[in-house]
Amino acid sequence: MQSLTLTKEQHQKMIAYVDSQAPLEACGLLAGHDSKVETVFEVTNQAQSPVRFVMDPIEQLNALEWIDSNDMDLVGIFHSHPTGPETVSPTDIAEAAYAVVYVIFARVDNTWRARGFWIKDGVYSEVALQII
Ligand SMILES: [Zn+2]
Repeated sequence: MQSLTLTKEQHQKMIAYVDSQAPLEACGLLAGHDSKVETVFEVTNQAQSPVRFVMDPIEQLNALEWIDSNDMDLVGIFHSHPTGPETVSPTDIAEAAYAVVYVIFARVDNTWRARGFWIKDGVYSEVALQII
């Protein structure tokens, strides 16, 4: 996937959520079609950690079932790095289990910045985020 398209409202909603959870990492799922996000799911970070996330399995399952029954696909997974880095961590690479865009919100100088990545077989590449 070369790019992922989000609306300004979706982008703002995710920033508000990750900001509300900081200094803990926050996470969630992005559903849609092809490379366009239609719905943002906020998921509780069961790890309650500032340096890693584990999605609450019930919330994750409920969201995946909703996505399936609404004829959408899982197109992305987002999480935050409240203290950086602005890129994927070794843990992110090791734990990337889905062929979707990983969106990382990193807080740098008190501003949240989002970047997208494709992670496969231990390597990653950047995916452009189009915010419309
Ligand atoms: Zn991470």
